[in-house]
Amino acid sequence: MMIPHRMTRSGRNWRRGIEKGMHMSGHVWRGKKVLVTGGAGFIGSHLVDALVNEGARITVLDNLQAGRWTNIDTSSENVRLVEGDVREAEGVNNIVRETQPEFVFHLAANASVPGSVDDPCYDFESNCGGTFVLLNAIRLAGIRSRTVVASSGAVYGEPEEFPIRENSSLAPISPYGASKLAAEIEARMFSDVYEMQISMARIFNSYGPRMPRFVVFDFLKKLQSGPDHLEILGNGKQVRDLNYVADTVTGLMVLATDGGSGEAYNVASGDSHDVTEIAHMLLDTLGLRDRTRISYTGKSWSGDAQRWEVDIEKIQSLEYTPVVPLKEGLEQVITWYQQTFGNIL
Ligand code: NAD
Repeated sequence: MMIPHRMTRSGRNWRRGIEKGMHMSGHVWRGKKVLVTGGAGFIGSHLVDALVNEGARITVLDNLQAGRWTNIDTSSENVRLVEGDVREAEGVNNIVRETQPEFVFHLAANASVPGSVDDPCYDFESNCGGTFVLLNAIRLAGIRSRTVVASSGAVYGEPEEFPIRENSSLAPISPYGASKLAAEIEARMFSDVYEMQISMARIFNSYGPRMPRFVVFDFLKKLQSGPDHLEILGNGKQVRDLNYVADTVTGLMVLATDGGSGEAYNVASGDSHDVTEIAHMLLDTLGLRDRTRISYTGKSWSGDAQRWEVDIEKIQSLEYTPVVPLKEGLEQVITWYQQTFGNIL
């Protein structure tokens, strides 16, 4: 059952980094009908902010499994919230038929790798089944939406050659990576067989305010409960490409307007650091470098890729440029974290 919602977001005064990396294309988005699935989540809510700024008319579909309506500023008349599940074909068919979106961003998914290991059924049904339901709804509605499907760097699994390019081998090592790869295959099929315009965004570690999980958030949580010691999962040598959420959002919007159909693109910063380096940068920013002792568990979690160094040439050819440096992005996250969860020190 789909339940429309109207709520007002609680006050939030951290600086809106989102505006900084915006893909400025007001004439493209103004007045356009846009459907965002998973829009109450971390990346989705920033995408909704950006689309509101650009003057789009947005319908958000989310089952609130991980997202929250309070992530979304509903003061704009241009945002409509619908509580519903992408696994339910009837509801999804209705909402697509009613809204006739010109653009669709499909972000609704289980977005957690450990979550997918714990509950592979939910992961498969939402990520793989939900993608099928949504794309089929667009087909049934007979509309020419431009669609972006959120995939993940997890489709590459544990790559052996670097940097990771879109034509690198695809060998997922988690239920999540497998369900995202299956979603990509569906998207390509709908693009080929039904000539639908669909691009796939292989997103790598997005971080920023409202992030619900991932390495930077985990470190801040641990430091808040005890700033003298920081335990890092694994050996700290895992290499990550952290991309500030405003830049991730820009990537999604660039793909919506300019992405090739049936094409997958890495959406990343192109700048990688190992996890220990990231910890040091956080500690420096917090003034804790001399105080906090770092230790390692030695063993990481199942499905944790060791090295992500990402080539972003393909999306750069669409004039995508990540603009928020890691240091500045981390400062923004720290500010948001302390305003939301209290001071770390
Ligand atoms: P998130 O968990 O904050 O957002 C996902 C949203 O989808 C949530 O609001 C959740 O409630 C909703 N959802 C889950 N199952 C649903 C269902 N069956 N029906 C309707 N809504 C459902 O995660 P996020 O980090 O914002 O990720 C957004 C998208 O980007 C996801 O598809 C994720 O797999 C992908 N992605 C994210 C990252 C990252 O670094 N954050 C990396 C790679 C890929």
